[in-house]
Amino acid sequence: MKLIPLPAFTDNYIWMLHDGHHALVVDPGAAQPVLEALTRFGVQLEAILVTHHHPDHTAGVEALRLATGATVYGPQQELMPEPLTRLAQGEQAHSLGLHFDVLEVPGHTAGHIAYYCANVDGAPLLFCGDTLFSAGCGRLFEGSPAQMLASLDKLAALPDATQICCAHEYTLSNLKFACAVESRNTALMDYAAAAQQLRATQQPTLPSNMLLERQVNPFLRSREPEVIHAVQGFDASARDAVSVFAALRRWKNEFR
Ligand code: ZN
Ligand code: FE
Repeated sequence: MKLIPLPAFTDNYIWMLHDGHHALVVDPGAAQPVLEALTRFGVQLEAILVTHHHPDHTAGVEALRLATGATVYGPQQELMPEPLTRLAQGEQAHSLGLHFDVLEVPGHTAGHIAYYCANVDGAPLLFCGDTLFSAGCGRLFEGSPAQMLASLDKLAALPDATQICCAHEYTLSNLKFACAVESRNTALMDYAAAAQQLRATQQPTLPSNMLLERQVNPFLRSREPEVIHAVQGFDASARDAVSVFAALRRWKNEFR
C-alpha cells in the first residue's frame, strides 16, 4: 500500500492511499491534483473520505465522484455535497480491503470525524482532517474547548505507532508556538530541527505518529505541569483542564 500526500492550494494535503490498482483519497478540496495522480499511478479511484464540511476539504468531491464513480463517505450532520454515505461514531468506511473506524471529533466543526484503520501494512493509520495537526490542533470554529479537548483525548488514546495524516502542512508555525510554551522539552527541540530540515527541501513533515505527538504537541500536553505553568503566564485564571486548554488555544490564536 502506498500513502501519498498530494499538495493542494498553499498548505493543504489531499491524502491518497493506493494498492497499485485502486485508490482512496481524503478531503479533496480540489479535483485536479487527484485526477493527475490517478493517471500518474495508473489507479482507479474507489472511495473519497471526507472529514468535515469546509470547502478546502470538499470542493473537489463532486467532480471526482462524477469522473470516477467513487463512493463518498462523510460525517453524519454536516452540510455536504450529496450523495454520500454518512457515518457516525463506531461505523466504518470500506475501501481497498481495509476498514476505517469513524471517530467523532467535534471542535473545529460541530460534526468533524476522523478515520482510523488499525492495520495498513502492519501499522495503524489515522486521517484526522483539521482536528489534530503535527504540534498543533485546529481552530475552534464551531465547537467548545471542552469538546476539542475530549476529541484530542480520544485521538491521543490511539496506539503509539499510529501514523497521523492531517490535512495541512502547519508544522513549522505550530512548532514555533510549541517551543514558546515548552522551551525545555528536548524531544520538541529535536523535532523542530528535523522538521526545519524537511521543509528546507520542500518535503512534507507528515505523516507524524502518535508517540511523537504526545511528546511534542502542546494541545496533547495541556495537563503537563510545565504547560499549565506556561499557560498561566498568559491567563492566570486558567486552573482546571478545560480552562487551561481554552487559554492555550487562545494564546496560539494571537501568537506571532
Ligand atoms: Zn477546516
Ligand atoms: Fe482545512
